[in-house]
Amino acid sequence: MSYVDEVYQSVVEKNPAQPEFHQAVKEVLESLRVVIEANEEEYRRDALLERLTTPERQLLFRVPWVDDKGQVQVNNAFRVQFNSAIGPYKGGLRLHPSVNLGIIKFLGFEQIFKNSLTGLPIGGGKGGSDFDPKGKSDREVMAFCQSFMTELHKYIGADTDVPAGDIGTGAREIGYMYGQYKRLTGLYEGVLTGKGLSYGGSLARKEATGYGLLYLTEEMLKCNGKDINGMTVAVSGAGNVAIYAIQKAQQLGAKVVTCSDSTGWIYDPEGIDVELLKEIKEVKRARLSEYAAGRKSAEYHEKKNGEHGVWNVKCDVALPCATQNELDIEDAKALVANGVIAVAEGANMPTTMDATEYLQKNGVLFAPGKASNAGGVATSALEMSQNSERLSWTFEEVDKKLQGIMVNIFHNLDEAAKKYDMEGNYVAGANIAGFLKVADAMKAQGIV
Ligand code: NDP
Repeated sequence: MSYVDEVYQSVVEKNPAQPEFHQAVKEVLESLRVVIEANEEEYRRDALLERLTTPERQLLFRVPWVDDKGQVQVNNAFRVQFNSAIGPYKGGLRLHPSVNLGIIKFLGFEQIFKNSLTGLPIGGGKGGSDFDPKGKSDREVMAFCQSFMTELHKYIGADTDVPAGDIGTGAREIGYMYGQYKRLTGLYEGVLTGKGLSYGGSLARKEATGYGLLYLTEEMLKCNGKDINGMTVAVSGAGNVAIYAIQKAQQLGAKVVTCSDSTGWIYDPEGIDVELLKEIKEVKRARLSEYAAGRKSAEYHEKKNGEHGVWNVKCDVALPCATQNELDIEDAKALVANGVIAVAEGANMPTTMDATEYLQKNGVLFAPGKASNAGGVATSALEMSQNSERLSWTFEEVDKKLQGIMVNIFHNLDEAAKKYDMEGNYVAGANIAGFLKVADAMKAQGIV
């Protein structure tokens, strides 16, 4: 059996009931096969793939907190410190009822390669809890965040592990966590990113993942002789990534006609009104049905089981920005039938493996999340730099650096794909480019 197959089999055996983690490992190892086989003897001797697919440290802890009725609640929480070969662990905290160890491991594993691709010195990690901030009062969210940080603060620090936001963890949650960290340690340091502007946050961090997604998509289209200006775009999600992806797509001259949340989706043929969307999602924290109520041109569709929502709409570019495995083979077929030119992932692993293959086989330009959504973590690393320097850069400075990073990422993966005779396969290009730097650093640091 080849080294790649052996390691994949062992990952499945040693990590039962973690399908998302298996899926992420399979996708990465498959596209690295050519590189691994060229160095098989050395990698096998050093157990490089075993070390790469096994987290350096996994923390599991309980989070007790008191709800508004005086009832004690208990949640499960995780921090997976996956790989620190090229820098301190860096990756977000997801707060969602679906969170379990397998999901955090898939996200942490992806983060290693994503962070490497940014060209910045950050290792891979991820964390979170099955706590659901939806429907909770501010006091309940604060109680949870303080209890969560009371345990987590022992294991993180500005030079060791720097968490950030993700699904369910926005500015409010980061603020409560930062306050508790500072209170417990007495340190005013850049231990979390995505902070508010009044206490060490970076301008353009909020916009960074969505804007970065569009910078990379624009570059990918340009290098393939196409212009995003005038194109029709379908977006899923209505959270942090989706909102700023929609805004930047519109600034680049595209028309975005869809968005979605976990209960339904919007089709707005006149183009999504971003200000209205922000008011509903960022201020009121309400459902998307309110968007349709406030805008005549919009149709609201309740989410039904087995229905394919936004991906049935005719578009040139599709940007999945909600959650993992939200674009499946049926969706990919509908997109191809409707003439889609490019798909770029704003979320982490939103496209199933068979859907990705189908899109690629049908000539659709496909940018994988670990490259196309890396703008968020890249700007988090810029926030860390500003915190270390005790300086704040302007919005324009950060945005310009972000744009440079995203364009650079695209060229790195394009070149890696070409070098290994897989021109246009940006999934392989991203995995190879991300992997080579980490593998080199691991080799140089010996067996640790
Ligand atoms: P948010 O919590 O801000 O938004 C997530 C959005 O997706 C919400 O509108 C949510 O709906 C919607 N959603 C969740 N599940 C589903 C579903 N099954 N069907 C339809 N819609 C759904 O999270 P983010 O925008 O921060 O993150 C989105 C994705 O991007 C995640 O995969 C995350 O890991 C990834 N990502 C985020 C980065 C960041 O900087 N924030 C960086 C890189 C990747 P509802 O409003 O109903 O909850």
